[in-house]
Order: sequence, then C-alpha cells, then structure tokens
Amino acid sequence: MRLLESDGQLIKVLDRDAIVALDPSLASAREKIAGGIHCPTDETGDPAKFTRALAAKVVGRGGEIRTGTTITGIETSGDGVAQVMTDKGAVKGDAYVLALGSYSPLIARTIGLSLPIYPVKGYSLTIPIGNRPAPPTIAAIDEHNLVAVSRFGDRLRVTATAEFAGYDTSHKPADFAFMKGVTEELYPEGADYDRAEMWAGLRPMTPNNLPEFGQRRLRNLYLNTGHGHIGWTMSHGSARITADLIAGRKPAISMDGLLN
Ligand SMILES: Cc1cc2nc3c(=O)[nH]c(=O)nc-3n(C[C@H](O)[C@H](O)[C@H](O)COP(=O)(O)OP(=O)(O)OC[C@H]3O[C@@H](n4cnc5c(N)ncnc54)[C@H](O)[C@@H]3O)c2cc1C
Repeated sequence: MRLLESDGQLIKVLDRDAIVALDPSLASAREKIAGGIHCPTDETGDPAKFTRALAAKVVGRGGEIRTGTTITGIETSGDGVAQVMTDKGAVKGDAYVLALGSYSPLIARTIGLSLPIYPVKGYSLTIPIGNRPAPPTIAAIDEHNLVAVSRFGDRLRVTATAEFAGYDTSHKPADFAFMKGVTEELYPEGADYDRAEMWAGLRPMTPNNLPEFGQRRLRNLYLNTGHGHIGWTMSHGSARITADLIAGRKPAISMDGLLN
C-alpha cells in the first residue's frame, strides 16, 4: 500500500466505524470487521461492457475483429512469421502479436518457443441485486478470505479462488459455496443470492507474476501475454508498450522491473 501511495494513489487506513460510515451496507457485519484500507483513487468496472465498447471503437476506426475464428498454427518463412493459420483461412500481416492468455504457450510451442505461462483457475459469481435493500455502494476485498466484490449497477460480481486444474473450466455449485457464504455474511441484504450466475475462467500466470513482452524468436512476432490476475488492469499499458515496441520506439511506459 505504501508503494502504491508513493506512486500517487490515495491510501487511507480506516477503523470499522469509518468503514460502515463509508458503506452502510456493511453495518450488520460491523463486529466482524477489524479495519480496512480505502483507496479512493482505485476503480472497478464491468470488463465485458468495457471490452464490447472498446471493440466498437476499434471497428469504428477501421479495424476488423474476427470472432469465432480459431488459430490453428503459425507458418514461418526464414526468420519470420509468414502467416497465421485459422479454421477460416490464413491471415497475413506485417507484425503478429501473440496474446492468447493461458493458451499462448500452446501455440508458441508449435514454433519451438517455450513460455512459462500456466492456467490458474478462478471462479466468479454474478448476482442480481433485485429488490434487496442494502447492496454494496463501493467495491471491496475481504483480505482475510480473499473474496472480491464489485458493484456493476444492478448486479454484484464476486470473484475468488486460485486453483491449479490445467485447462479445465468446468464448475459446480459447491465450488462457489465459500465465496457466496462470505459475501452473504458481509452483505446479507445485498443481492438476490439465489439467482447467482456461475462462471470459471483461467488466469495466465507466470512464476514471477511478470507478463511477457516484445519480439521473440521470429523477427515479426511480438508477445503481449501472461498478465496473470490483473490482465484487465494492465491491458491498456501493455498495449501501449507493445505498440511502441512494434514501431521500434522506446516504450513511453517505463519497462523497469517489467522484463522477465
Ligand atoms: C475469476 C477471475 C477474476 C479476475 N479478476 C481480475 C481483476 O479483478 N482485474 C484484472 O485486471 N484482471 C482480473 N483477472 C485476470 C484477467 O481476466 C486476465 O489477466 C486477462 O483476461 C488476460 O487477458 P488476455 O487478453 O491476455 O487473455 P484472455 O482474456 O484469456 O484472452 C485470450 C483470448 O484468446 C482466445 N484464444 C485462445 N486460444 C485461441 C486460438 N487458438 N484461436 C483463437 N483465439 C484463441 C481466447 O478465447 C480468449 O478470448 C481475473 C481472472 C479470473 C479468471
């Protein structure tokens, strides 16, 4: 927290009364709260809404987004990528960015590139607030139980758990019992818990938590992958770095401490 503070973030240490004053929806859990850290400059949001809006902007500027297309391989020629093979035909470009999240090492392996990226499974609940009277007014993380709760307008998003389960994204109701219980204890009147939607996904983790950037092995192949548990947070900065590297510029964002 001190590190974030030294970088310009506001960090306030609050006691339990100050926390309940900040978010009255926590009133009934008051006795269970030891204290907390409030970061007024931190933000949360709905990543699906963000991604759709970003995609619309890309298309609006002349970009093309092909969904439902699976990359099946990379064809090389000499020291470069010649084309990327997909189930809907080949795609040619001047430069290629490998950004397949947890799946990047599978494609990289086919051209002899070994990437230390491993899928770490996480679970998420999306719960309608419905007519419940006391939904959270700000996002929070229960640091003891490692459960994060965000408010997306009329829904809550609750995320938790880091599991090594390979590429398996299956889930069953029992997987969500703990995180649902923790949230319900904190915000008993916060959402319509019986209508929770369940989801599980993979975080592309690296052993030292650093993503992989830059040109690798082939002259026109760049990496922007392995962002672990904060890939959305890092997405714009990482894209900026990648664009600068492809253009042969010194990245505008300092790479100090970011290189593997
Ligand atoms: C439960 C959970 C909670 C999280 N919470 C946060 C958070 O609060 N904040 C945060 O910043 N991050 C969070 N993350 C992490 C974040 O989701 C990831 O770091 C981020 O999505 C990585 O982005 P990416 O684009 O590299 O990979 P992905 O988002 O995984 O995208 C890779 C894409 O490549 C596609 N793909 C893979 N293989 C192929 C192929 N062969 N052909 C075509 N397409 C392919 C996939 O379908 C996918 O769409 C969370 C993750 C989980 C699972």
